[in-house]
Formats: sequence, structure tokens, C-alpha cells
Amino acid sequence: MWEQDAHIWHPFSYRTDAPVQRVVRGEGAYLVTESGQRIFDAISSWWVTLHGHAHPQLSAAVARQVHQLEQVIFAGFSHPPAVELVGGLREVLDAHFAHFFFSDNGSTAIEVALKMLLQLHHNRGESRQVFLAFESAYHGDTFGAMSVSSRGIFTRPFDRQLFEVAFLPDPDTTPTGALLEALEAACSRHFVAGLIVEPLILGAGGMKMYAADKLEALVRAAQARGVPVIFDEVFVGFGRTGRLFAHEHIQARPDILCLSKGLTGGYLPMGLTVCTEEIRAAFRGEKVRAFLHGHSFTGSPLACAAAVESLRLLRTPDCQARIAQLCHWQAEGKARMAQLAGVQNVRQTGTVLALTLPATGADATYLSSLGPRIYDYCLAQGVLIRPMGPVVYLVPPYVATRADLELAWQVMEGAIAQALG
Ligand code: PMP
Repeated sequence: MWEQDAHIWHPFSYRTDAPVQRVVRGEGAYLVTESGQRIFDAISSWWVTLHGHAHPQLSAAVARQVHQLEQVIFAGFSHPPAVELVGGLREVLDAHFAHFFFSDNGSTAIEVALKMLLQLHHNRGESRQVFLAFESAYHGDTFGAMSVSSRGIFTRPFDRQLFEVAFLPDPDTTPTGALLEALEAACSRHFVAGLIVEPLILGAGGMKMYAADKLEALVRAAQARGVPVIFDEVFVGFGRTGRLFAHEHIQARPDILCLSKGLTGGYLPMGLTVCTEEIRAAFRGEKVRAFLHGHSFTGSPLACAAAVESLRLLRTPDCQARIAQLCHWQAEGKARMAQLAGVQNVRQTGTVLALTLPATGADATYLSSLGPRIYDYCLAQGVLIRPMGPVVYLVPPYVATRADLELAWQVMEGAIAQALG
């Protein structure tokens, strides 16, 4: 059976020397391979899994739904799981977030947000075309999402096809004053359509973390300039930063919020683009003002059923306590990693812990030889850690125990000592 795998083109697979892992089962924070090896999923399978793999209640919720209604066109139709999900989200979000547009994944949630803002200005008779984004941003792999992402190794073959974006310097290394000056300069040079940011953590751009007050200042300055703000909470949403949503760390609110990954507890792909009544209002009236966008599987009842159950679990005191505990443990992990010889910039926001290994030239990029060495070492020891170039990080699911983290820290220490040795 496995020989067929040679015909599967796996994503982000640039290595020819690494075998594909054959996972046959998931059990909580662990993946189980064909050979019976148990692997601690220390990156929540690309940051999606919240409550663990093969979670009994989540699986049961999807199973119940599959016997009721598996799929229905979402244009002009609705169904209970979608309505229940929006009801649940409206209970945990400010009333400011009034309208929910469904799509299929993180990248499509971003595409929808970008198109929504471009058409908002179009419907208002304004020509505002240029987006602002951070230099090391990552918002997805489709063309609009790539356009507002960092120009580099991921985008190089496509750079000429990407639309114009004015980049702001990275917030982790730029003081607030300089950031606001860059915003001001960009606004005076361009008719700005919107500002898109990953709040608190620039994820795939290297787990770059920045303070909430800087985010607050930037959002307020942009909105004071009449620039709508998109928060990409595809990664940081649903508890990763210690609060249910990253924007809860500040008082200001974005005009658009993008959600995916943990939205369904990591069970099924789904994206949500949430906007204000003010934005929605610009699409009402004449037919030509309508938002003519949609995907075949928009509002998948199965994904919605998973999302309803995941949100219910997230809101339980037990899960809230686990998240708080995980934040606490990761702070301990941070102190421990800071003791390691040679590592730089050990950092933590909520449940996310990251550090950077010293590297120069090609080794400082995504294709660094350090990443695969760490990955192989950790996997052999039963921990899934997938560095991004020289950046090593942990994003554990909320079911991870203290012993699981202890294992991850130990293995990480060994891997780093070996890679730098
Ligand atoms: N935005 C952010 C912040 C992400 O981290 C990602 C995926 N890593 C995306 C968007 C794209 O999501 P997807 O992979 O589901 O298209």
C-alpha cells in the first residue's frame, strides 16, 4: 500500500533524504505510526490541533452530523451547524464583529478579506488599491495571500505576478515610533486599501513576537487615518496566545478578523472572514454591489459541526485551565532554553515558545541545514518539531501534559546541542 506514496506530492517537501512518516492513528497529543512509534505532536500538526487527535467528543460531533447532512450549497441555503457556530462565536466576540463569511482554509479567509476591502472601496467609488503588511508576514499560499506576505524564498518564482504592497518594518525589532512613521509615510505615498497584520506573533515568518501595546498603537494610527485593519488570527486565534483571541490583548478592534486552523479544533478545513456592519453595509443595495465570491464547500456542515464542538470544549473551565497551565509551563520552558549555550532570542507568547539558532548565509534561511538536523533528531526521539530554518518552536495541543513538555524540552536541548556541536 505505501508504495503509492511515491505518487503523492507532499506540501512544503524540499528534502529528498527524509522518509515520509506513515501515521495510522492519533491519540490525544500523540501520533502513532505504522510501526507503532508514538510521536508527541509538539507543533499541533501545523498549528491546527487544539484538543488532541481523535478526540472522542469532536469525533462524535462530526459522526452525528455526517448522518444528518454532509453538504449543501451555501448560496441561498443555511443549516443548523453554521447557525449554531455563528451564535457561539458571537457570544465570545464583541458585537463589533457582526458578519461571518465562510470559506475553506486560512489562505481563502485572507483572500476573502482582501477582496472584501478592495470591493468595499470600489462600491464606495474610491480607488484604494495598495495594502500595507509587515516585511516578514505570512498569510498563505494563494496569490492574494502571497502578495501580502514576505517576498522571499516562498514567493520568488511568482514575484512578478504578485500585486503591489507597501511593507512596514517588522514589529519585533522596530520601535513603536518608527513603525508609526513608516505607516504615515506609506499612507502619504499610496491610496491605502487596508493594513493586514498577524497580531502578536508573525508565525511562518519566524515566530517573531511583539508587544500588545505596539499592536494597539499601530491599529489606532491606521484607523485614525481611515485605513481598515485586517487581523489574521489564523494561527494565533483560539487560545494560542493565552486568550481566546489575540485581539483580546488590546482595546482596539480590527475591521476584519480571519480565522481558520483551530476554528474546527483542527478537525476539518474551514476559514471564516468576520467583518463589521459598516463593511457589510457597503455590499447592500444594487445587485452589482454584491460580493460575488464563494467556494463549493463554503460552510461545510461537517466542518461547522466540528467547530461548534471545538468552541464548546474551548469554553469549558477544564480547557481554560489547561491553556493557562500550558502558558505557565512554556514560561518555564523559556527560562530553561535561555540556559542553552549559543541559542538566541528565546521568546514566548502564551502557549507558543520559540528560539533562534545562530546561523549565517543560507543557514539563516528557511532552507537552512539546521532545521532538518533538529527535525530528524527529535523525530527519532519521538517528538514532532519542525523548525522553520534556524527557528525552533513548540506549539503544543492543549491536551499536552507536563511530562509531554518535559520530553519536548529534553529532546529539543539534545537536538540543539547536537546541531550546534
Ligand atoms: N495565515 C497565517 C497566520 C498562517 O499561519 C497560515 C498557515 N500557516 C495561513 C494564513 C494560511 O492558512 P492555510 O494553510 O490554511 O491556507
